[in-house]
Amino acid sequence: MGSAEEQTKECTRCGQEKPLSGFHKHKRGRFGVRSQCKVCRLEHGKQYYQENRNKESERKKQYRQKNRDKVLERLKQYRQKNKDKIAEYYQKNKDKILEYQKQYRQKNKDKIVEREKQHYQENKDKILEQMKQYRQKNRDKILEQKKQHYQENKDKILERQKQYRQNLPSMIYEIHNTITKQIYVGQTSQGRQRWSEHKSRLRKGTHRNPQLQKDWDKRGEDAFRFNVVEELPCDFNKEQLLEKEAALMLEHISNGVKLYNEDIPE
Ligand SMILES: [Zn+2]
Repeated sequence: MGSAEEQTKECTRCGQEKPLSGFHKHKRGRFGVRSQCKVCRLEHGKQYYQENRNKESERKKQYRQKNRDKVLERLKQYRQKNKDKIAEYYQKNKDKILEYQKQYRQKNKDKIVEREKQHYQENKDKILEQMKQYRQKNRDKILEQKKQHYQENKDKILERQKQYRQNLPSMIYEIHNTITKQIYVGQTSQGRQRWSEHKSRLRKGTHRNPQLQKDWDKRGEDAFRFNVVEELPCDFNKEQLLEKEAALMLEHISNGVKLYNEDIPE
């Protein structure tokens, strides 16, 4: 099927008439070239590779799933046996590996998060127990790390704490004794943090209000409830805050509610 000037041949795959230079050489082929053109050969090879790669990886995956323990054990043994070689390889290619891992994590973020979540759910008890044991075993190390972290980031941490405190709302609050219905009324510019402060003192037995402390000791923590009566802006005027507190105390007294407060306004 070739012309006299330039030998051509029809590709058996795409059917195009092409010059012989468009075919790979093949001794036993017609005109000494392959029956499929170079383009088709390349395409064919790619397809074959793809198909077989998928098949092969699917087969391997199934095998791994079926023989998980065996595979893991073999991997462990392999790693053990080739420890030095692996370490050497890692050292040599550290940057490349880390970069690859970073890219992989970025590309597969959702997948990784999902996998970690699932792993955590399935192994929660084991993981928590491991963490506990790790903390117990490495208490000094962890403490040292925390200290170091604090030292290195002291300014940032303190600034953040200051910002946090400054942005806490002012509030009028009550501490209810849910059993005797007696109430402690308070005001603060430190938001709910005040409740933590009260609790901390009460637990230590050093609260300034002896009656409240006595009931806390007697009834236990669960008998008390923190109640926010009014939340106000963090920069709310202190005098007005005190006035609001006084008004609430008087309201309770006029309703016959017994208060823990000792400094009840006239
Ligand atoms: Zn072709």
